[in-house]
Amino acid sequence: MTTSAGTELTLDCAGLTVLIAGTTAAARRTVRRYSAGGATVRRIAAPEQFHPRLLDAVSLAVVVDGPSTDGPFTDGTLIRHDDGGSVSGDSWAPLREACRERRILTSSEEPAAVGGRVTLIGGGPGVEDLLTVRAKQALREADVVLYDRLGPYRTLAQLAPGAELIDVGKTPGHHPVSQTDIEKLMVAKAREGHHVVRLKGGDPFVFGRGGEEVNTCTAEGIPVTTVPGISSSIAVPAAAGIPVTYRGVAHAFTVISGHQPLTEQELEALAKLGGTIVVLMGIGTLPQLTSGLRRAGLASTVPVAIVEKGYSPEQRTTVTNLGEAVTAAGLARCTSPAVVVIGEVVRQHRDFSSTLEQVLTPPMVAS
Ligand code: SAH
Repeated sequence: MTTSAGTELTLDCAGLTVLIAGTTAAARRTVRRYSAGGATVRRIAAPEQFHPRLLDAVSLAVVVDGPSTDGPFTDGTLIRHDDGGSVSGDSWAPLREACRERRILTSSEEPAAVGGRVTLIGGGPGVEDLLTVRAKQALREADVVLYDRLGPYRTLAQLAPGAELIDVGKTPGHHPVSQTDIEKLMVAKAREGHHVVRLKGGDPFVFGRGGEEVNTCTAEGIPVTTVPGISSSIAVPAAAGIPVTYRGVAHAFTVISGHQPLTEQELEALAKLGGTIVVLMGIGTLPQLTSGLRRAGLASTVPVAIVEKGYSPEQRTTVTNLGEAVTAAGLARCTSPAVVVIGEVVRQHRDFSSTLEQVLTPPMVAS
C-alpha cells in the first residue's frame, strides 16, 4: 500500500478487500479513497450492523468515526494504527476484537478537519444532460452540495452520491437563504474539511454572484475553482429555435439583467447599438424596459419572445412585439424563470407550443 501527499491520500490497494465502518457522512471520503485505490470496499454504517461474517476475505478494517490519537497526515486525516488495546466506550469494540482474533489489520480515522475546498459549478439551464463532463466529475467528488432550483437539482442524489444536499434556493421575491448566509455556510463546510460544490444555474459568472463567492473563499484562504456552465442567456433562446446572432440580421447580442430597471443612458446606448437584447430576470421590469426602449427609439414592431422554463416539459414561448409585449405577457401569465429576447432574430423562432401566442399575435415566422 502506498500513500502520497496531496489533498487526499492516494492509496494503491488493488486486490484488497477493505471493511469501512462509520456513519455515511464521516466515512464517505474514506470509501472514495479506498475505492479509487482499487480496493473492494464493504461498508457498515452502525456497530449493530456488524457480523463476523462481514470480515470474510477482508484484509483491513477502517473505523472512521472512532477515537484517534496520532496524525495529522498531509490531508488532515488523523490515522491511528491500533496496537491491540481496546478503547473504553468504543462502540466498535466487537469489530476490533473480531479483527484481532482473525489477525486482520485495523486502523482508525477521523474525518479530516482541514483540506476543504470549494468548486463553483455552472449547472446549465436545468437538465442533467446539459451539465459538462467536468461538472459531473466535481459533483461525484462532492461531500456537500449547495444548490438552487435553476440548476439540474432533481437528479442530484445520483450525481453526487452520498453528499449532503442543501437547498439554498431563491424564488423571486423570497430569499430563504441570504447570499451572506450561503457564503458563510460554504466557508463553514469547507473549514470542516469538505469538498463543497456550489451548483448554480447557467454559468456561475453570468448574474450568478459567482465572482463574490470566489472572492469570499479567497479572502478566507479556501481553495476555490470554477467550472463554467451553459448560460440560459444563449441556451434558452436556442431552445425556442432563436439564435442570438444571425449573419446579416444581428451581429451583436447584449445580455442584461432585468433585476433593476435600466437608466435612460443605458436604454439609449442599447437602442443605438442594435443587435439582439437578451434579458434575464426580466419579467418584473418588462413594462419599464419595453417603454424605455421605445422612448429610446426602437420601433414598437420589433419582435419580442418570452421563453419560459426552458428545457423543462413546461417550456413555453410567447411571441409578440415591443408595443404589445406587456399585454401579451400579462394575458399569457408569463412567469419566472424566463428569458426575454428582443430583436429581429426572434423571427427565427420555431416553437409554436403556446396556443395563446397564436391567438395574441399571428406567427411571424416565414418558414
Ligand atoms: N447564471 C445564470 C443566470 C442566473 S439569473 C445563467 O447563466 O443562465 C436567473 C435568470 O436566468 C432567470 O430569472 C431567468 O431569466 C434565466 N433562466 C435560467 N434558467 C432558465 C430556464 N431554464 N428557463 C428560462 N430562464 C432561465
